[in-house]
Amino acid sequence: MGDCLFCKIAAKEIPAALVHEDDDIVAFKDIFPQAPVHLLIIPRVHCAGLNDLAPDVLPALARIPQVAAELARAHGVAAGGWRLISNCGPDAGQTVFHLHFHLLGGKPLGGKLVH
Ligand code: AMP
Ligand code: ZN
Repeated sequence: MGDCLFCKIAAKEIPAALVHEDDDIVAFKDIFPQAPVHLLIIPRVHCAGLNDLAPDVLPALARIPQVAAELARAHGVAAGGWRLISNCGPDAGQTVFHLHFHLLGGKPLGGKLVH
């Protein structure tokens, strides 16, 4: 997608602190971390969010929990606990419309909802 921030990060047209990349998936540090470990995991294929899944994103989507678990281990939060969430749409506060999963950990994360 021409004007998509996360497509540009995946294509390395915009710099980011990458922590994982493979044929289907890219992960990088969130620029405004909400926890000691705050990573974003995205499919390379553009998809606006979970309301807009198309067949071409499903192979990446199927592997994201496994990549998240590997990243949680690599970043030292596997034992302490971590959370994987995707905000979808206005009530969830989605601000970037390329499907992404937040991996959060490194401190007690509180209740299931932020507010
Ligand atoms: P959401 O609000 O769920 O759509 O999440 C978007 C996330 O992208 C936010 O946590 C932002 O801090 C993060 N973000 C925005 N721009 C960048 C960027 N250039 N590099 C890394 N993370 C970013
Ligand atoms: Zn995109």
